[in-house]
Amino acid sequence: MIDLHCHILHSVDDGAKSLKESIKMAKKAVKSGITHILCTPHHNHRFDNPKDKVIKLVKNLQQELDKCKVPLRLLEGQEVKIHRFLMNEIENNKILFADVTNKYLILEFPTTEAPAYIETLLIEMIEKKIIPVIVHPERYIWAYHNHDLFLRFLNMGCLAQLTAPSLVGNYGSKIKKQACKLIQNNLVHMVASDAHGVKTRNFYLKEAFNIIEKKYGQEKVDYFKNVARAVINGDVLSS
Ligand code: FE
Repeated sequence: MIDLHCHILHSVDDGAKSLKESIKMAKKAVKSGITHILCTPHHNHRFDNPKDKVIKLVKNLQQELDKCKVPLRLLEGQEVKIHRFLMNEIENNKILFADVTNKYLILEFPTTEAPAYIETLLIEMIEKKIIPVIVHPERYIWAYHNHDLFLRFLNMGCLAQLTAPSLVGNYGSKIKKQACKLIQNNLVHMVASDAHGVKTRNFYLKEAFNIIEKKYGQEKVDYFKNVARAVINGDVLSS
């Protein structure tokens, strides 16, 4: 399995707190069947994790995992918080995409509201052949209340990434219900863990795929896994 969203790099955000915890997370991931993790530390007003810093940290952690013989491949990424001047940061080479061809961008939105500049920015990105991946749409209040806006973003060409623990029920029944609704209506394109540690906010990817298989069939599981592969490879998705 490929995990497209994980805070496994330590001491850079609210994810793993030490090398020891990163290694514990890696071992847990491998045990649950994860082979590749896209490292996505927060890059926002609170945590500054530009491209060059993340590349170094991923290389270091990969070396540590190799030393401990943990069979897990780490890939460089960021969870980029959307902001008005994001295109400048992209142009200044501070941003890491999910793939080396700079196609898929893992994007976090504000929780409560989606300010008007966002739509303009998404249009600009898509014109520049960037595919924004909206992370955890099931947790955004604006996407729940302004469903049309969320649909508009998807129709423009954005993709959406569901968080596995939401589907398992870790964020409560309302978010679980919303997660199910999004899958049912084909409004999410991939599932990822957004794991932050070993105790709380763990992977739950295997558990989520078990639920998806039971409720929506193997075809849906295969679709989500194929999209994850396409995203890290920078492949074009067939519609
Ligand atoms: Fe995250």
